[in-house]
Amino acid sequence: MRRRTLAAFGPCTDASVPEAESARGTAASASKLRSVRAKAAVVALFALVAPASARGAGDPAVAALQSALRARGVYVGLIDGVRGPATDAAVVRAQRRAALAADGIVGPLTRRALRLRALGWRTLRQRAAGTDVVALQFALSERGFPCGTIDGEFGARTERALRQFQRYAGLSPDGVAGRQTFDALRAPVPHPPLSLAWPLSGAVTDGFGPRGGRFHTGVDIAAPMGASVAAAASGRVAYAADLAGGWGLLVSIAHGGGVRTLYAHLSRIDVRLGQRVQAGSQVGLVGATGHASGPHLHFEVRVDGAAVDPLSAL
Ligand SMILES: [Zn+2]
Repeated sequence: MRRRTLAAFGPCTDASVPEAESARGTAASASKLRSVRAKAAVVALFALVAPASARGAGDPAVAALQSALRARGVYVGLIDGVRGPATDAAVVRAQRRAALAADGIVGPLTRRALRLRALGWRTLRQRAAGTDVVALQFALSERGFPCGTIDGEFGARTERALRQFQRYAGLSPDGVAGRQTFDALRAPVPHPPLSLAWPLSGAVTDGFGPRGGRFHTGVDIAAPMGASVAAAASGRVAYAADLAGGWGLLVSIAHGGGVRTLYAHLSRIDVRLGQRVQAGSQVGLVGATGHASGPHLHFEVRVDGAAVDPLSAL
């Protein structure tokens, strides 16, 4: 079983915890929030493990398209890999600008005008740039290895995420994306092999997925300062201290099978390293330590080091 220490993935997570997380959410994310809450309520009520469906999952190729449209100033939406009306309208605008038939179909001429290249047409390594790098960054992020800003520039941050993914996928971690890596990235996104309890009750104000130009690797649960945070399953405390990179006071619990849960931004830690905890026992209190603009719990689930959508296990 592959195991990762916090030190190993610590540097990778600084980008996954944003500069200022809000427990309130934004108007723009309100509909997403309602959707996430509705799903969460269903899962909680019926104690079901959510199916391994592509809930909210984006397509890296669509993310690359959105990035190309944005670079041409015809798209201002989120790079979320989901092709909706805003993306379609932007394609038409780009076609008009390039004097192409404005049919909204991303065919060869439109692809050429947008300099859109599919992931896999060339080997990717540091210093590469382009829309296929956007697709690579998006695919790595969705698989739980965020690359910082999804900007189409293959820098050190992307290489680190790529090496982590390659190790995770049993490939040689050479930091160069070739055929084997592209094949591995097409495999289904992993889901936690166990069922978790909610660490506290509260609204999910931000889910797992793209946020701004980055990727949010957990869920944010709104709760008042000092609210009790409970272990989502039994296990052993693998980390219990302040962690740089935006986490603040952090508890991590190892549950066996390569599964870990993380509880960030705490105001107080009530467990110690190595301690065995039962599901539902208090591990700490809600706070706003690290990069957090208000009290909330950033809750994260990792399988063999890969961040997965917690709502798929709750
Ligand atoms: Zn968060």
